[in-house]
Amino acid sequence: MNAPLQGHTASNPKTTEALLSVDHVSLEYRTPERVVRATHQVSFEIDPADRFVLLGPSGCGKSTLLKSIAGFIKPCEGEIRLLGQKVEQPGPDRIVVFQEFDQLPPWKTVKQNVMFPLLASKTLKRREAEERALYYLEKVGLTAFADAYPHTLSGGMKARVAIARALAMQPKILLMDEPFAALDALTRRKMQEELLLLWEEVRFTLLFVTHSIEEALVVGNRILLLSPHPGRVRAEIHSHQYDLHSLGGVAFQASARRIHRLLFDEAPEAETELGFADIRIAY
Ligand code: ADP
Ligand code: MG
Repeated sequence: MNAPLQGHTASNPKTTEALLSVDHVSLEYRTPERVVRATHQVSFEIDPADRFVLLGPSGCGKSTLLKSIAGFIKPCEGEIRLLGQKVEQPGPDRIVVFQEFDQLPPWKTVKQNVMFPLLASKTLKRREAEERALYYLEKVGLTAFADAYPHTLSGGMKARVAIARALAMQPKILLMDEPFAALDALTRRKMQEELLLLWEEVRFTLLFVTHSIEEALVVGNRILLLSPHPGRVRAEIHSHQYDLHSLGGVAFQASARRIHRLLFDEAPEAETELGFADIRIAY
């Protein structure tokens, strides 16, 4: 089924304009030898302050979709709109945090790293940029490390710098591509918790990509399930009832298993048996 999933059910009627709308977007890579279709007619909408997760197996086109929303790759079909404006190129209203934290230039201090995009994009003058950098470094608990260099930081701390740097630009939407995948399991859990606390405080809009079902349930309030390559929408799930405290709980484990079945098409259950409060099945 390729009809757009609006993400809003009768019990949750849509009242505001979507912040981001992705409408029947297909993405392809063209090489001289062949064309690789990364996603096929993917549709979804993100509202302000959503923690929207794209979940799907490796190679299903999550990163490609994120890059397209960031404005780096043009859809071959469909369109992407941010507050009604068609996305055609990168812009400071969409900031990406990637998985590799070695995206931080090592010759700049933590504070200079956070200030850099603000200065390079001429968003702020030096004084204001410094103030804003310190404000967001405080939010991620790194005030004491403002003058440290990246190589002296742990993986988790580098992740926090990358998040502070992105939030300091005050984008309309923060795009995160498997941002914690390279971290050890305990640090990863800690970062998920910190991200949720930060969201409670700042209420930014987040689009978060992961291939981990657990991470999707913890981080997201809505999860879009993508099929294996090429990515098509399988379902959209409301998951706001879960957080880190739900990990290991019976309901959480049952949801994780159901998502697994939806993703991999194993023994599909009747829609009524799925047990999610709000679910749209796309096939
Ligand atoms: P995911 O992030 O979900 O793991 P990607 O978006 O990275 O998936 O990739 C989607 C598909 O597009 C994969 O089949 C991948 O091999 C292919 N792909 C990704 N980047 C390129 C590229 N630069 N050139 C050709 N094919 C690519
Ligand atoms: Mg990827």
